[in-house]
Amino acid sequence: PTLPETLSRTTRKYPDREAIVYPRKDVRLTYAEFDDRVNRFANALRERGVEHGDRVSLLLHNSSEFAIALFGLLRAGAVFNPVNYRLAPSEVGYILDDSESTVLVFEEATRDTVESGRDEFETIEEYVYVDDDVERTPEYAAGFHELLERTDAATPSVTVDPTDQYAIMYTSGTTGRPKGVVHSHRDATYHNMLYAGQMGLDFTDIGISAMPLYHNAELNCGLLTRINLGAKSVILHDFDPRRALEIVDAERATHLFVASRIWGKLLEESNEMESFDGSSLELGVYGAAPMPPSLLEECIETFTEDYATAYGMTEMGPCATFILPFEVREHLESVGRAAPNHEVRIVEPTENENPTDPVTPADTVETGQTGEIILQGPPMMEEYWNLPEKTADAIRDGWFFTGDAGYLNEDGYLFLVDRIDDMIISGGENVYPTEVENVLYQHDGVAEVAVIGEEDQEWGERIIAHVVPDGDLTADELDDFCRESDDLAEFKRPRRYEFRDGLPKNPSGKIQKYKLRDED
Ligand code: ATP
Ligand code: MG
Repeated sequence: PTLPETLSRTTRKYPDREAIVYPRKDVRLTYAEFDDRVNRFANALRERGVEHGDRVSLLLHNSSEFAIALFGLLRAGAVFNPVNYRLAPSEVGYILDDSESTVLVFEEATRDTVESGRDEFETIEEYVYVDDDVERTPEYAAGFHELLERTDAATPSVTVDPTDQYAIMYTSGTTGRPKGVVHSHRDATYHNMLYAGQMGLDFTDIGISAMPLYHNAELNCGLLTRINLGAKSVILHDFDPRRALEIVDAERATHLFVASRIWGKLLEESNEMESFDGSSLELGVYGAAPMPPSLLEECIETFTEDYATAYGMTEMGPCATFILPFEVREHLESVGRAAPNHEVRIVEPTENENPTDPVTPADTVETGQTGEIILQGPPMMEEYWNLPEKTADAIRDGWFFTGDAGYLNEDGYLFLVDRIDDMIISGGENVYPTEVENVLYQHDGVAEVAVIGEEDQEWGERIIAHVVPDGDLTADELDDFCRESDDLAEFKRPRRYEFRDGLPKNPSGKIQKYKLRDED
C-alpha cells in the first residue's frame, strides 16, 4: 500500500480511536478527525498547484501540524522532504534547492531561519505557516489552520502507486554534505510492519514522539508505524525530560524511544519527581549509542522491564538490525542481528573500482574481524537524489555499503566500531580512531577528542588527536598516558596533539571529522 492508504484503512477500522495527541496546543484528534484534516491540507495543496511528484518541505518541530502536513502532502501525491530545523539558513537553502522543493511549511520556531534564507530559497513558490492559530501569519505565507478551515474535506482523487517516491530525506551530514535519500511508499510501509512486528506493537499502543520527526528513526518507528496500526501518537514539540515524564504518566504511554543518553536524563528527573507513575510503559527503545549496563538496570527498575534497540541509517531505514527485548541484557554492546529478510556482511574496506563487480563470499572478512558493514534488505533506498556516482558507489550488486566499520561475532551479532571514511592507514595497518579515542577518554583532562589521520611521507598517514581539554593539559602528559596504556598498540599512538576549544559537529551532535581533515 501507499502511506495515505494505510491511513484510510486505519480510519475505516477505528474512526473514533485517538490518533494524534499534541499537548502543547491541547489537540486531540481521532482517526476520523485526523483524516479529515489530512484531506483538507491535501486539497489546499492541490489548489495551490501542487501536482503528483512535486516536493513539499517541512521545516517543523514535532507537532500535530507536522503529522497533518505530512499525510496531506502525500495524499496530494507530493513527495515529502523533511528538513532539520536546527540547520542554518544556507544549509536549509541547499536542501530546498537540491530537492527542487516548491512548498515550504514552517512555524514560529523556524521563522527566523526562513526570513534569513528566503531570498535564496529560489525554488519555493508557496510558504505555509502553521502557528497562525496563535500568532499572526507573515505576509508572504498562507496560514495553515486558515487553509484547513476553508478547504473542502473530500478525499482528493490522486493516483499514487506503492513504488512512487514518498520522500527525499537528507542524511545527517556527518561525513560530508547531506545526501538526498529517495524512498518509495513501499519502503516506508515495509519499515513500519517490520518494526511493529519485531516490537510486538498493536492498536492499543500509545507512543510518545519525543525524538525529531524529521529524522527517519522517529518518523518510521514512531508516527508512521502507529498510523498503520491504529495506535495513538502523543507528540512532543521539543524535549524536556520533566515534561516528557509528566506526559508519559498522564497519557499512560506504552512505548518510548529516545537516545541512550536521554534515558539517563529521564532517570535523573524521575528521581526528583515526587509522584511519577511510569507503570504504563511496556517498551523502552534506545539508539544512537550503546546503553551502559548500570543505566539499563536502573531504567528497568524505574520504568519497564523491556528494552530494545536497532541499527540503521537513512538509506536502509532505521532497523536493519535489532536487539529484541528478551536478549537485551546479554547484548548491550551489540546493535543486534539482521532484521527479518535482511542480511549483514562484513567485507574488506576497498575503493569501489568497478561498481558492477559482484560481491562474493571471498570479500567477506573472518568472523570477529573489523571491516565495512554491508546490508541487504527490501526497504533499501532507490537512489541518492541527483548523485548517480554516489549511488553507484553505495549500492553494489544489490548490497548497500554503509560506510560504517564493524564486526560480527559467531552468533551473528553486529558491533559498530567506526566510520570507514575515518579509518586511518598508518604503516599499512588499519587504525580505527575510536580505539584511540577510547583510550584518551580515560584521561581525566580530556573533555572531548577526535582522532584523524594526516598525510605522512613515511607512514602513509600519521595519527593526530584533536583534544578539547578540561583544565590544564599538555601533549607530553597525553603521550605518557598512551605509552602506559595496555589498550593501545605502539603504532596507534597519536604523533601530534592539537588543543582546541571545540570540535565541528552536525546538528545532531555527531563530530564532523571531514572538517578537521580539511583544516590540515
Ligand atoms: P551522512 O551519511 O550524511 O554522513 P549520517 O550517516 O550520520 O550522515 P544518518 O543516516 O542519520 O546520517 O545516520 C546513520 C548512521 O548513524 C549510521 O551509518 C551509523 O554510523 C550511525 N548509527 C546508526 N544506528 C546507530 C546505533 N544504534 N549506535 C551507534 N551509531 C548508530
Ligand atoms: Mg551516512
